[in-house]
Amino acid sequence: MKLALPKLLLRPLSRFQESILHVLLAVMITASILTFPTDFIEAPLFDLRQSWSLKPKADDQIALITIDDETLNQTNEVHPLPLSYHQKALERLEEQHVKAVGYLINFNMVERIDPTPFQNEQGQKFVRTGIRMNAQGIPVLLANPFTINGEETPPYPLIQLPQAVSRIHHDGMIFGKDNVTRRALISLYDNHAFEMALVSHLHTHDEAPTPPGTYRASDTDAQYFLFKLHQTGGIVYDPDYETFPYARYSFVDLIEGKIPQGTLQGKIVLIGSYQREKPNDFTLINSRSKQNSIPKLLVHANILDSILNQQGITPLPASVTAVLCFLLSVTVILASLKLRPSHLIAMTAYLLAGAFAASLLLFQPLPWTGSLWLNTSRPLISLVLSFYLMIPLRLYSENRKRFALEKQNKLLKEVEEMKTNFLQLVTHDLKTPVARMQGLTESLKRALAEKLTSKEVDLFTHIFSAIEELNHFITSLLELTKLDNQGIRVQLKSKDINQILESVLLKHRFAAQAKQIDIQTNFEPLFPIKFDLDLISKVLSNLIDNAIKYSPEQTTITIQTQEQREFIEISIQDQGIGIPQEEIQNLFSRFYRVKNDTTLKVKGTGLGLYLSKYFIEAHRGELTVESTLGQGTRFVIKLPIDLQETEVAQPGLKTQIEKQRKESSPGRALG
Ligand code: ADP
Repeated sequence: MKLALPKLLLRPLSRFQESILHVLLAVMITASILTFPTDFIEAPLFDLRQSWSLKPKADDQIALITIDDETLNQTNEVHPLPLSYHQKALERLEEQHVKAVGYLINFNMVERIDPTPFQNEQGQKFVRTGIRMNAQGIPVLLANPFTINGEETPPYPLIQLPQAVSRIHHDGMIFGKDNVTRRALISLYDNHAFEMALVSHLHTHDEAPTPPGTYRASDTDAQYFLFKLHQTGGIVYDPDYETFPYARYSFVDLIEGKIPQGTLQGKIVLIGSYQREKPNDFTLINSRSKQNSIPKLLVHANILDSILNQQGITPLPASVTAVLCFLLSVTVILASLKLRPSHLIAMTAYLLAGAFAASLLLFQPLPWTGSLWLNTSRPLISLVLSFYLMIPLRLYSENRKRFALEKQNKLLKEVEEMKTNFLQLVTHDLKTPVARMQGLTESLKRALAEKLTSKEVDLFTHIFSAIEELNHFITSLLELTKLDNQGIRVQLKSKDINQILESVLLKHRFAAQAKQIDIQTNFEPLFPIKFDLDLISKVLSNLIDNAIKYSPEQTTITIQTQEQREFIEISIQDQGIGIPQEEIQNLFSRFYRVKNDTTLKVKGTGLGLYLSKYFIEAHRGELTVESTLGQGTRFVIKLPIDLQETEVAQPGLKTQIEKQRKESSPGRALG
């Protein structure tokens, strides 16, 4: 019992069904890609865009005070210094008339170094300075670290000062899982995080706007945004020269009054730790290289800058990604069925590059859109996946087409073979009765010879010419069937082509004279060359016969021979009716005759030129034609001078079919 399924699969689909199938496939690819986590590809692509995109200039309002190696060396203290130093620093900042102070120091650790100042006047002094500054409209904000125990508030009495939670966010759990810092906290449990809080304190009259692209994280009650990296003089941070895009001063210089008065006036100052050898002071900002590690204090500055200047990277909605995935997938699927493989590869490569270039362009901080983050990994995967899925489908459809073509080809060959057999049979059987008709008519004419009137003699002449025509037709057909069955055997003999032409011409003199056609010959003396006398005579005879047949009376036919490097060239030019340009391509086909009034009157089979070309090509030569309608035709034969016996084999059609059959079914051939 045959299975129904393969039959169903083999049944050709209508165009509409095919289109539906392609769209469905694209939808399936898109849907599966959208559910598949692609962060591990998207994260490095995000970083690539980040490093290739233009970076906004760092805001010179922001200044950094670093508790650095110099500070620790010169004060001879441990990090993050006892409270007295911070008290001093705050007083200095007040003197400098700064715009705001963001204190990124864990005061619990300060207390651990020496708890006494917190219990005496020192702690109170620090708080008083802070409160005084806040009252003057200079926000002093303490950053509370966020640990596994939650927000860590500063020890008494510093708890009285304004504070906000602060955390450098590493993409450790989701998105890339590569511990790279790309996003920043805007708020946690509806309380502003450190940088946002600092900006809010600066907005005394109105509410500070959140930066573009702020989104609410689904897993925690928090708001984030993707901050921008800033640069000055093309530098985000240079570890070798310790160059920062923001003005940086050492903490020790601040407390020792070495920063000239007025330098920090109107600046938003961030105070934090920056020790070269302390890994905890640094964070990765790019997964592409471990070199892309920058001080955490600098990350805070970039976050603050992004919020101040309303810069952020806005993720485009998932629907945009879905539409793009679908469009790319459908394009590749449709193209894969129509384009050549090399073109398909080129197109896919262009689309890949185009999709990435588009995402890179969107990432630029364009004034009217800001930086947009188009998910690139999913569209790219959809392209590649569609491409690889379509390869086997394409192979399958090609195979089906080839199978159908092979079947058709086989059928055509069989029909051709049947036609040849039929022709052979008919012509062979016709030959004998026609010969008998000829013989019998001649006997009849002879028997009646004396009694015939001149009119009756004319009638006999017509009968003979009709029989002659029929004979000619049968001979041509026999020639053709012989060719098809056995091919031809070219028997090479050395002869002078001019001599052969002379003898062929002799046979046509009478017909030419009857139409008063002048035959001019211009033969260059030639060396004998090798060719098949019988075949070439037939070709020449046919071409001269045609020239006479298709020329009006009192015209000239010019026949020329000449030697041309590896060829002998024979040209036969007439001043006859000519051949329309559009017919020339079919002229050498079997049974082809140009349809016009003259050819209708002229008897012919449409086989002469086909056979002539076949014979000439069997000699590795060429037969070409040039013609101008109403002016004349020129046939040119080129025969190679140095033809070898081994070059002239021409298998017949039947032999070719049999050979192919044997090759395709060796079992049967052996049997
Ligand atoms: P046919 O037996 O019809 O002459 P051929 O194969 O020799 O068959 O020629 C095919 C057709 O090419 C002719 O029917 C005729 O229309 C055209 N043809 C051939 N030779 C000439 C020529 N010298 N001038 C004009 N037409 C020609």
